[in-house]
Amino acid sequence: MSAHDVIANLKELATRTATPDGAQRLAWGPVWRDAREWFNGKLASIGLEPTLDAAGNSWVTLPGQSDRAVIIGGHLDSVPNGGWLDGSLGVLAAFEALRMFTHHRPRLTLKLVDWADEEGARFSRSLLGSSAASGSLKLDDVRHLVDKDGTRLVDALRENGVVLDRMLDAHDQLRAVNAAAYLELHIEQGPALEDANQPVGVVGGIVGITWIEVTITGQSDHAGPSPMRLRRDPLVAASEIFQGVERIAIMEDEIAVATVGRVSVEPNVINTIPGTVVFSVDFRHPDGEVLA
Ligand SMILES: [Zn+2]
Repeated sequence: MSAHDVIANLKELATRTATPDGAQRLAWGPVWRDAREWFNGKLASIGLEPTLDAAGNSWVTLPGQSDRAVIIGGHLDSVPNGGWLDGSLGVLAAFEALRMFTHHRPRLTLKLVDWADEEGARFSRSLLGSSAASGSLKLDDVRHLVDKDGTRLVDALRENGVVLDRMLDAHDQLRAVNAAAYLELHIEQGPALEDANQPVGVVGGIVGITWIEVTITGQSDHAGPSPMRLRRDPLVAASEIFQGVERIAIMEDEIAVATVGRVSVEPNVINTIPGTVVFSVDFRHPDGEVLA
């Protein structure tokens, strides 16, 4: 397998679909379509042609000696100003894998999939195409979505030949595949591998996420005349909880993470003891029992 060719293709894609600020392949838009068209040209050069499933995911099949299939995935869509490797590394590494086998039939069938709208950057709903294929997409959760320019998701989908109410047919299409394994080469999105000086890691699980919102109600009062011993300051209480949230993750194991990312204080005035504090907590862990 030629890493050199994969990188050359990634650079070619970036030249075509990125600005100096990064990749601009927002799902369902013209640059994303152009990226897919470019990729379809690459496929044509090795005699392969993609088909779209009902959710707009683009599939390419290289038949093997058996119909048992290895699915290799990625996504060509990007966030605005996205990285040059996110998603496209998976697609172009998969392309290279297919290219290697165009002249001698692989033992297993190889299927490449370019998931549609994996990032969710435009309609604030990530994993749209893959969740339809996995069957977990709830159509009514996304039916009303509108992008920041006022375009409705249903219209953006239709522009790309996808009918919202038929998207879950992609689930049946995926189930019809005699799949042995799913592989995806993805750029690391955190600093852990680099910190450990490791070139590659294998995903052992996918984290579940629990989001909670906490409201603490205290007693708002003037900062000057209120003696410390008579105060009921919810922000001081919250600050102790923040320390506890951090300790929960640190004491659990190396994988657990917990984050307080949003805090709002009422009335948020310099000379007033707050009356109410609302904050978010984001817990993540691959084991559902630990999260619970
Ligand atoms: Zn990605």
